[in-house]
This record gives sequence, C-alpha cells and structure tokens, in this order.
Amino acid sequence: MAIKRKDPTSWRPATRMVRGGTLRSPFAEMCEGIFMTSGFVYDEAAQAEDAFAGANQRFIYSRYSNPTVSMLEERLALIEGAEACRATASGMAAMFAALMCQLKAGDRVVSSRALFGACHYIISTLLPRYGMESVFVDGTDYDQWRDALSRPTACVFLETPSNPTTDVIDLRLVCDLAHAAGAKVIVDNVFATAVLQKPMEAGADLVMYSATKHIDGQGRALGGAILCDRAFIDQHLQTFLRNTGPSISPFNAWLLLKGLETLELRVNKMSDNALEIARFLEGRNGIRRVLYPGLASHPQHELAMRQMKGAGTMVAFEIDGGKKEAFAVVDRLKVIDISNNLGDAKSIATHPATTTHQRIGAEERARLGIADGLIRLSIGLEDVEDLKEDIAQALRGL
Ligand SMILES: *Cc1c(COP(=O)(O)O)cnc(C)c1O
Repeated sequence: MAIKRKDPTSWRPATRMVRGGTLRSPFAEMCEGIFMTSGFVYDEAAQAEDAFAGANQRFIYSRYSNPTVSMLEERLALIEGAEACRATASGMAAMFAALMCQLKAGDRVVSSRALFGACHYIISTLLPRYGMESVFVDGTDYDQWRDALSRPTACVFLETPSNPTTDVIDLRLVCDLAHAAGAKVIVDNVFATAVLQKPMEAGADLVMYSATKHIDGQGRALGGAILCDRAFIDQHLQTFLRNTGPSISPFNAWLLLKGLETLELRVNKMSDNALEIARFLEGRNGIRRVLYPGLASHPQHELAMRQMKGAGTMVAFEIDGGKKEAFAVVDRLKVIDISNNLGDAKSIATHPATTTHQRIGAEERARLGIADGLIRLSIGLEDVEDLKEDIAQALRGL
C-alpha cells in the first residue's frame, strides 16, 4: 500500500524525527513494522533476474537493504539534511566503512588527534598496515591543519566536540583547507548529534554516527550511520557495504527508529541539564577545571556557540588529585552509574584514563589533556536537582 504523505523535505525538524521515512505495509499498521526477514520472494524467476540486474527498485536480501532499515536511513537523512544515509551494525562499522570504501594504498589521511579510542586505532594503526599514510594534528591548532593539508590528501577525519575533553574544532575552516587539498571530510558527530550541530552546512562531505549513543539513548542497541550524497553511495559505499556486510539487524534498526522520535526532546533537555551541572561544578572546592563548551571559561566557547545550537550532553572535570581520588568520587555516586556509554537517558560517570583511553598510553593521554583526575559525565534526563545532590555528596571528601 502506498502511503499518502506530504513531501517530507517540507517538514520541520521535529516532524521529520517522528514521521520521516515511514513505510506502511498492506496491514496499515500505525507503528513502523519490524521486518525480521533475511530474504524476499518473487512470483516468477524473471522477477528475480530483473531484481539482480537492478532493473527495478525492490528488496532482495537484507545484507543489501531491508524495509525497517530503509525507514531508519531515510529518517536519518531527513533529519541531517543529507541526500542519503546507510545504517550499519555499530558506530565503528560506520566509521570503518566510510574510510575503507574510498581509500587505497598510497592515500593520505589527516585527522584530529582527540578521537574516540577505536577511531584512533583505525587511523593510527590499521590504515598504515594497508599502505596508507596517517597524519595526526592537534584539532584546535590551525597552523598544524594548514601544514598537514599543504599536500594532496584523500580524507580528513575529525570529531568535535571531542571525547572526553570537549575541544571544539572550526568545521568551516577545516573543510575549506581540506577541500583545497582535494580531501573528503568525514565528521564524527556523535557528541553533538544532528540536533545541535550540522557539519554538512559547514561543508563536511560525510557525517557518521554511533547510533548506540543519543539516537538510541536508552541503552538498548548498537548501531551506526553514514550520511552523504547519493553519488558517494553509488560510487563507493553501496558496493563496499553490500560485499562486506556490516548490516544492522532490522530489530535494532527499529529500536533506533523509535529512538529518533524523541531525539530532539531528549538531547535539548540533556544539554540544558549538562549546562546546569557544568555551572554547578565550576568554582567548587577541589575542582581544578570544568570542560564544557557552554561555559564562558571554555577555550572555544565562542566558536561552539556559533557552530552549535547547544553545548551538548557531555561534561568533563578534573579534580585536585589523581586516580585514587577520582575513583573515590566516582565510587561515592549513588544516582549516576559508572559505565562507558554516553548519550543515555541515565546519567553516566566515566574515568577516561583507565577505561576508554587506557590503551592509547600515558604519553598520548598527557598530550590530549586526559589527566588521572579527569572524570567525564554524560548527563541524562533525571531531575537535575537529584544529579546535583548526588555529585555534591560524592565530592564532599575532596
Ligand atoms: C561510541 C562512539 C563510537 C563508536 O560507536 P559504537 O556504536 O560503539 O561502535 C565512535 N565515535 C564516538 C565519538 C563514540 O562515542
């Protein structure tokens, strides 16, 4: 059954999040269907032949595409304002595919240094094994970007705000430098989400997400997404995904699709709560510095306010003391959980130096400003007064 609908590109963002991409089966279900099927059937052999020849648009096999996954992809593309989207089994599958579908031996990749740990591994360790050159720069030092991009480059990869120190990189400036060097720019937009930041408006060619974070936002499912133009999918991505198979389960795609309906509400509320927590932490006894782009004291505060609609859901702070004192603070928390996830409705505390950034080593941690006394908070949807009380009692020992 064809569903009647207005042109979804005329919808405002909240409407896109609730309704974008919906496909309805002949059963006329209200809620989007979960099409748990690996394959699809044909009335006649000739139809299968046509499908494999690409003569008509239809579902063939869920490694290539699936109705539930397609709904998620179309909704994500509408929210981002991108021409197209491909969903993957995890954020890392999205990141890896976005790079590997277009790179070959001899290519050069320039990246900001402050990255999610697994992204750092792929660029620093994996790409060089296949004959690619990787160059890291300090993301907020534009002389380093200029220098690195003074030679032809295939790809630029960056994350802003960065994990866990919330460095904010000027997207337009880096995109302009990258394009002059012939590079495609991939932005890991996990921390900001499409609600608060639209990298494509600043010139980014690809945006990637770990949908595991704010898009699900309820701690249930892994997922990832790549947003780009249709030509990139046709030239590079579709063939790579179809043949390597990092496909997302239709069930997980359905969870993420339902998560999108409340994405804007959740992210805005969590970002408001995060600003309140950051202000609450700043200047308290025993706290050396608070890293949150929404604070006037943040080194890139003005850029963040220009580039983002809100300062995000992640707050980092450094206490007076090292690992022992940081562990004691985190262990005293009674509402906020200790975990490594982020973007969840439940607030989470992480000690980056011993978890997410353990493997990059002490030297690289020092370079990134990840001290042993640094604690990262992902602020959720609880009553902010309960969060403040919890943090205040945890800090009492300092
Ligand atoms: C979590 C995360 C990833 C990886 O996503 P997974 O879904 O865990 O594979 C990549 N980048 C950032 C910034 C992340 O937070």
